[in-house]
Amino acid sequence: MPVIAITRCSALGDYEASIRQAGGEPRVIDVTIDPAEVVRTAGGLLLTGGGDVQPDLYGAATHPAFSAAEAGRDACELALVRRALDADLPIFAICRGIQVLNVACGGTLVQDIPTERPSATPHRLAMPPHDARAWAHVIQVEPHSLLSALLGDRRTDAAAREVNSRHHQAVDALGDGLRMSAVAPDGIIEGVEDQGRRFCLGVQWHPENFHRTGEFQPLFDAFVRASRRP
Ligand code: MN
Repeated sequence: MPVIAITRCSALGDYEASIRQAGGEPRVIDVTIDPAEVVRTAGGLLLTGGGDVQPDLYGAATHPAFSAAEAGRDACELALVRRALDADLPIFAICRGIQVLNVACGGTLVQDIPTERPSATPHRLAMPPHDARAWAHVIQVEPHSLLSALLGDRRTDAAAREVNSRHHQAVDALGDGLRMSAVAPDGIIEGVEDQGRRFCLGVQWHPENFHRTGEFQPLFDAFVRASRRP
């Protein structure tokens, strides 16, 4: 059973449940973890949701809406991603995670969607996260992407599907090696991936909230499958 390192955050339960359901063994890691040890002992790295990445880490001045993550998370998670990329360790990056992944690859972020992209669709929902009514907006999934293959969308009206959404930041300029794999109707990037790697996928929404109903379980299944060691 592959060990999946999960970065500690305030709402771990759904991430752990999704990994277990996919046949992985969750191991929650703290900001004091040695990234080299993670690469040595875990099969995959799951980056979770949380506060904002310090803007100076991607060369930007701090926006008034900046809301810091827990102390130490930026440095720890950026180091983890770089180590994992070097070792081609599978990475699944969710919400804040997609933003950390993008910054680690040299990309930038939209710091505050409501003020920097005022015409954007609302990306923050008020409903309980796993309530079916909590779908907040649709995404367009890029054809021929890993994401498209995993979601297996059989609809004929292109590849639109609904996702839950609670973020005020987003990927802006893409980091090295990353391509966009999903986008909201307002142009906000909702998915990235690096197809040159074993498994490197980031999503801006919260697939882990749906482990009870399984809408996005194929993402966790494929991640854990890729994280098996020979
Ligand atoms: Mn969104």
